[in-house]
Parts: sequence; C-alpha cells; structure tokens
Amino acid sequence: MRSLLLIAAVCVLLPACKTNPYTGRSQFLGLSSESDEIKAGISGYQQVLDEQPISTDADLNEPLKRVGTAIAKAADAWRAEQGEEPFQWEFHVIADDKTVNAWCMPGGKIAFYTGIYPILVDENGMGIVMGHEVAHAMLRHGGERVSSQKLVAGGLAAAAVATRDNENRGLIMAGLGAGATFGYIMPYSRLHESEADMLGLELAARAGYDPRAAIGVWERMAGLGGGDRPAEFFSTHPDPLNRIKEMQQQMPQVLPTYERSKKMPNSKLPNALGRKAPRAMKPAKKKSK
Ligand SMILES: [Zn+2]
Repeated sequence: MRSLLLIAAVCVLLPACKTNPYTGRSQFLGLSSESDEIKAGISGYQQVLDEQPISTDADLNEPLKRVGTAIAKAADAWRAEQGEEPFQWEFHVIADDKTVNAWCMPGGKIAFYTGIYPILVDENGMGIVMGHEVAHAMLRHGGERVSSQKLVAGGLAAAAVATRDNENRGLIMAGLGAGATFGYIMPYSRLHESEADMLGLELAARAGYDPRAAIGVWERMAGLGGGDRPAEFFSTHPDPLNRIKEMQQQMPQVLPTYERSKKMPNSKLPNALGRKAPRAMKPAKKKSK
C-alpha cells in the first residue's frame, strides 16, 4: 500500500509515468525505456536458450510457430497503429514436462514449456495463452514491475545501475517475465492479470483464434488440484475461476472481432506429458563457433 502511494507521488512529480496506449492507464516506468527492456529481454532469452533443454520435436514446435506467427502479426499491426516498432519475435519449446508455464519477454521472446501442452489441448487454447503472455509484453508489465520494485527498493539512482548488476539479474529477468526459469517467482498484480486477459482475448480474436477457448483453458488450470498444482503458473497467474467470470463478461465485445477474422486452423496439440519417447530433445547449442 505504501509502495502504491509512493508510486502515485512519483507520478505526480516526475515525467516517469506514461499513459499506456492500450489501456489508458498511467504507468510508472521509472527511467526504463522500452528499448532497454527489449535489450534485457534479448540477453535473458539467450541465457535461457543456453541453459534450458530446448525441444526440437517438430510436433511441438510447428504449432507453436504457427500460432506464434499469427499472434505476432496481430500484435505488430496493433503496435503499428500506435506508432510502435514491430517486435523481434522468437518462439521456443522448453522440454520440461513438470513446468506448466509459458512467458513472453519484452521484444517478443517467447517460451512454452512442454508441461503446459496438455492444458492447452488445441491451437485455439495455445492462441489464448500466447495472446495473454504477449499482452503482458505489449503492456510493458515487466518494465513496470521492475521499475516500481527498484523504486521501492532504493530510489531512482539505484535503479539506473541495477540493470547492469549481475546479482540483480535473476530478479530483473523474473520481473520481465521469465520467473520460474530464473528461480524467482514474482507475481503479476491482479490488475496486470486482468489487463493481460482482456488484451490477450482481443489479440487472439484478431489473430483468428476462438476467444471462447479461454474458458476451457482456465478451467483445466483450475482443475489441476492438490500436489499437481503447478507452483509457477499459479503464483504468477492466480484466481483462475475469477478470471473466467471476467472473461465471460468480455466475450460479447471480442466475438464479433473473431467472426470477422480469418480463422486459423485448430489442430489438436500432442499431449506432451506422458509421451513415452519424446523425440530429439537436446540442450540448446552454445553460441560458440
Ligand atoms: Zn499473466
């Protein structure tokens, strides 16, 4: 609560706040520019590719590329309307059946864990989760969360150098979106989640994915009970049943967009969990050579 007041005060005093073009909400972004966030996203993403087991299974990668390309096109067209540059998109599958998660770092650097495939079921479901994660990036939620954290932690001067401090790196990368991978779980606020749900549904609809698929996705998330309940996704994406209610209220606004859109194929996804012999999984190549 004190931190919110502090941020509100800073927004009055400094030109450190911007009105987000997609939500109309004023965001505290400190000294962080979108291009700084994108730079941090690119280097963090490279670190993930170097350290995590990247799946080369075509059955998992092809749908991710297809859905990712459609969502990317819708997002870039929307960004262009705001005079913003296209993102430098990349899509990878991380071979980790235990992690039910997906994220998009600033600049459009996307990872889906194999553990989330059974929740998605088909490409509509993948479009919903992709739309949601890309919405966080378009809305600069990562930059906002790192900025407010750094402000609360030690003031603007510290914030300016913190991004270059390796010890803060994991925390900053978690703030930018790749929480589970860097070992810090930093939840998005309820407000960020609502905004990403709303913008994400619109993105999915524009890209040709049925927004109604969101209901099933979040119901399956909610159905992961007890010990199977994935810590990462639930600590960063709380309240599946509340968000279903909100999204149902938004359906009448997004369905007409979906009806007008060029529909994308909706193939079933392979059930990554429990596959007997996942094909050709390998650690990602180092950049040497
Ligand atoms: Zn989210």
